[in-house]
Amino acid sequence: MRKLALGLALLLICGAVSAEQVKPAVKGVTTPAATPSDTAKKAARKPAPKGPPAKMLFGAVTAPAPLEARAIGSYAKGCLAGGISLPINGPDWQVMRLSRNRNWGHPRLLDFLERFASDARALDGWPGLLIGDMAQPRGGPMITGHSSHQIGLDADVWLTPMPDRVLTRQEREDISATSMLKDPFTVDPKIWTPLHTKLIKRAASYPQVARIFVHPAIKKALCEQAGKDRAWLSKVRPWWGHYYHFHIRLTCPPGTEGCENQKPAGADDGCGAELATWFKMLRKAEIDAARPAPPGAKPAPKKPPLSLGDLPRECMTVLNSGGGGPVIAPDGTVPAALKAAAGKDAGPPEPHLDPKALAALKAEMSKSKPGSKLAPAAALTSAADPGPASVPAPAPQAAQAASPASPSPPGSAATDQSVPLPDRKPR
Ligand SMILES: [Zn+2]
Repeated sequence: MRKLALGLALLLICGAVSAEQVKPAVKGVTTPAATPSDTAKKAARKPAPKGPPAKMLFGAVTAPAPLEARAIGSYAKGCLAGGISLPINGPDWQVMRLSRNRNWGHPRLLDFLERFASDARALDGWPGLLIGDMAQPRGGPMITGHSSHQIGLDADVWLTPMPDRVLTRQEREDISATSMLKDPFTVDPKIWTPLHTKLIKRAASYPQVARIFVHPAIKKALCEQAGKDRAWLSKVRPWWGHYYHFHIRLTCPPGTEGCENQKPAGADDGCGAELATWFKMLRKAEIDAARPAPPGAKPAPKKPPLSLGDLPRECMTVLNSGGGGPVIAPDGTVPAALKAAAGKDAGPPEPHLDPKALAALKAEMSKSKPGSKLAPAAALTSAADPGPASVPAPAPQAAQAASPASPSPPGSAATDQSVPLPDRKPR
């Protein structure tokens, strides 16, 4: 049955390819009757379908690929062979949202989390880690949430300390993580503590950690609290959505062919121009989120989802190996229960300004508009690290829904009026 479903999926992919090959050209047609209508023009512009989205296939996989452990591809375009699952209870951690089945990773990630959880407790007094999403059993794109987490080297850790007891499975589904924010731009000093700073500094201190992503307001708090020892801050980058958890990304295991590292973090602590740029984007996002869409406005075009053909070739083998492959219906959908579990939020919604504060922000923004220059967009790109290359800025509604993710193409931002809003999906 499983093989059959996958076979069907692959057939669809191949079908799409051959359909594209035989598609008649519309160029050069001159008779009025044959002039393509607007709809036909639009259809011609649309990229040809490439089979079911890879997230449907990888999202419906329930077991790892029985192969040697290997991170294949890049963080936001790849898959995981030989994934192993983090035990749901460890001496210094507990895994949350078990129904999502995303506590899988490369052995390098599991080793790291064990060590980090133990060090954080022993050396900093952090009571234990609550672990959120890692990767799916075979990595790959997910039906909900992240654009990365695809190769078993990313993990989300809640900023809520672990309680002093073993949580039940139900509690791990129901308990909400705690937001660190007082408002869209500031951490709540009653919730954010020096211990949080220590925890993130600890995570950044390991050489195998490539990046850590936190909400810009958290990055600001870290910049203020870091003191003289600031080298670790360069690895900690602002990103949307990380206000109740932080995201740890490891470098590729040394010598792994086909695993794509991102650029080393560099020397800039990110507390200057880069953070200022993020705050401009935050302010714009806040205003956009409150603005009703103009009548008849179409939502911003979405980037087509990754198909299996967009991923490294070996990901097909990863998907096909052993049992536990994807269980999908012939129409390419994943079981409703799986989808429901994957869609559940882990934390509270992001805070927004009240109308009075919003009006004040708008007034301030309109005052500072003329002549005010933003940091070059390249700063954003480096802030954001590899991510999928370019996604158009979301419409206000899309921004509100805190949907998709990645930096704008370099060179597209210059002034306040044109501040690009990177895709807002959590990483
Ligand atoms: Zn994440």
